[in-house]
Amino acid sequence: MKKEPAYERMHENVYRVADSELTHHYDSSAYLVMGDAPALVDCGSGKAHNKLLGVLASLGARPENIAVVLGTHCHYDHIAGIERLRKENPALPLALHEADAAPVETADSERTCAGWFFGERISPQRVDILMSSRQSLDIAGLTFECIHTPGHTPGSVCVRVEVSGKTILFTGDCLVPGSSRIMSDYDDWRGSLETLADIDFDILLPGHKHLWMGDPFLACLMQPFSKPLGRKAFKLLQKNLRRGHWRNASAVYSHIMPLAARLGGALSR
Ligand SMILES: [Zn+2]
Repeated sequence: MKKEPAYERMHENVYRVADSELTHHYDSSAYLVMGDAPALVDCGSGKAHNKLLGVLASLGARPENIAVVLGTHCHYDHIAGIERLRKENPALPLALHEADAAPVETADSERTCAGWFFGERISPQRVDILMSSRQSLDIAGLTFECIHTPGHTPGSVCVRVEVSGKTILFTGDCLVPGSSRIMSDYDDWRGSLETLADIDFDILLPGHKHLWMGDPFLACLMQPFSKPLGRKAFKLLQKNLRRGHWRNASAVYSHIMPLAARLGGALSR
């Protein structure tokens, strides 16, 4: 019997180890970056902890030797999994932008989306590293750069790192608009897209492969982007945002869909 792949290789030493299909439908995409030690960018919800452990083990990573979890923002589907990982490695550091740290440290059910969106509980978690914009963190022999891209949440960040000759940009949910309930700010979001349009990267890895809401436009935006597509996506989003179309996500995404359908996902195969 053919065994399903337990992870997806995005690039040499960069793997998607959790997402709504690989592990649990509540999980965002979590990525393992193999430096001198394993590092995680986001870690999923923890709903399929044992499955995640199995995926990590197949790549030589155990909770005890993970150097850091770099959280892209405070949402349950991205970072709640740290609770279970810390049962095995209590010292496991969590890095978050300073503007998103409090909801995690106080288990804010609203801001983390745990309660109202997922119907789950979240426990308070220590944030060890408060990231600020353009801060570089030297971890596991790699340099992770925090780029503050607020909008989806006040403390949303992108994480940029050079791995095996390519510059990888992890965007978390910063391409996803949000709601006032989680303190999303559309002016901030527009500014963040401008920031992203100007920065250099080779491969963009977003925080979701599929969204369970079933929005086909959104689904197209969730593929790994090549740099040219990423740039076009930012520019088109900006254009639509300037026209005031941001309230209608489908109107924004419909401009990107033809491009995404043509080019999106090419890097993941
Ligand atoms: Zn989010």
